[in-house]
Amino acid sequence: MAIQLYDTLAGRKRTFEPLEAGKVRLYVCGPTVYDYAHLGHARCYVVWDVVLRHLRARGYEVKYVRNFTDVDDKIIRRANERGEDPAALAARFADAFDEDMDALRCLRPDVAPRVTGHLPEIVALIERLVANGFAYAPGNGDVYFAVRKFPEYTRLSKRNLDDLVAGARVEPGEAKHDPLDFALWKAAKAGEPRWPSPWGEGRPGWHIECSAMTLAHLGAPIDIHAGGKDLVFPHHTNEIAQSVAAQGGGLEAERYARHWMHNGFVQIDDQKMSKSLGNFFTVREVLKKADGEALRFFLLGTHYRNDFNFSDTVLGEAEKRLVYLYETLEKADRVGAGAALGPATGLVEQVRAALDDDFNTAAVLGIVSEAFTAANALADRKGKRSPEEKGKLARFAAEAREVGAALGILQRPAGEALPSIRDRAAGRRGIDPAAVEARLAARAEARKAKDFARSDALRDELAAMGVAIMDGPAGTTWKVE
Ligand SMILES: [Zn+2]
Repeated sequence: MAIQLYDTLAGRKRTFEPLEAGKVRLYVCGPTVYDYAHLGHARCYVVWDVVLRHLRARGYEVKYVRNFTDVDDKIIRRANERGEDPAALAARFADAFDEDMDALRCLRPDVAPRVTGHLPEIVALIERLVANGFAYAPGNGDVYFAVRKFPEYTRLSKRNLDDLVAGARVEPGEAKHDPLDFALWKAAKAGEPRWPSPWGEGRPGWHIECSAMTLAHLGAPIDIHAGGKDLVFPHHTNEIAQSVAAQGGGLEAERYARHWMHNGFVQIDDQKMSKSLGNFFTVREVLKKADGEALRFFLLGTHYRNDFNFSDTVLGEAEKRLVYLYETLEKADRVGAGAALGPATGLVEQVRAALDDDFNTAAVLGIVSEAFTAANALADRKGKRSPEEKGKLARFAAEAREVGAALGILQRPAGEALPSIRDRAAGRRGIDPAAVEARLAARAEARKAKDFARSDALRDELAAMGVAIMDGPAGTTWKVE
């Protein structure tokens, strides 16, 4: 079966059909780098990372382009506040963004173009629009796109042109012929970065950058253009208008992108995330108290089109669940070690079918959960396991890792993942992992000296801290209760 996806342009779920069989050209609008990535970014880019991974797992050769907006009002304002060069500030936050996305196990894009590296392409694109009669330069150094010349302007957003007129504003100094028109090029203002153009020194508008970078790196039409649902209007709407009009010929929206996908927002404890409400979190802040894979696993529990609700409580539950998955995988590896792989169970196909159905990660986690429960029961059962049962566990572990790869989880050895998850959970409870380790070492000494009263006292001390200890053949491990 082919992949079904909800296409915002069509307004319904439809079969994914790339232009060229077996190839996907994917563009995702990237961040404006004036600050650290926040939870909304984490959600958005994990969503598109799963889409990317699934397309690749399905055998598509995907070229994934995600830009950095490194020229923007917010960047200029922030840089001026700090007395920093805007380009340096943007470069610093772009690096920080990459680090945060790495921690969330998002694959890097094949190309991560920056606006500052594409000024010639942007200017050439605007020149084409002026030559085609879709854009005009009123003489004040700005260039605007004439929205009413583009018949499919409201097709993506399904909004009404009259409503858009009512919401449109003309800022002082602008020279639009129509309030609906939007800037492709803005004349330089004092203290702003500037580039030469046929209309005088200035800088590009936000929307034209994405069109120029998409066309430069992927051509047109691309197969999937994606981003947060807040970008439908005006950003993606304007991207379509410019990119189609610049090509000459037909004016159908599909001539820019064949499919449009949008992810839902992030809420915190059922409220909008905002600085004024004091519930605004950067990815870095969350990663101090939770492992990146745990946060990613938590994010996967909500369908990408729905709004995601973040809360510390549910994050803690997701984390426990991920610990359970790793522990089960470790047991399956141990009990199934050396066994001939049992027959395939269909888990991989079931997960693929759920992802084929508009990337339903929430359904996938349900499917995965059943398989883990069964494997856990088999691994834990008292008595000996038959060679067939061992083979079953070995097969389970292999399939679980394959499914995990498509979701970007369960790719670390348990011995690496579990302590990382545990230490952050401990931190949230005010438990210092180093203090736990010191007591465990003292307890080991006491046991060696057969001082069982001391060893029991240390165990009680740890229990009072909320730490459970497990003595096993490989030594003593601990976890937060
Ligand atoms: Zn964009």
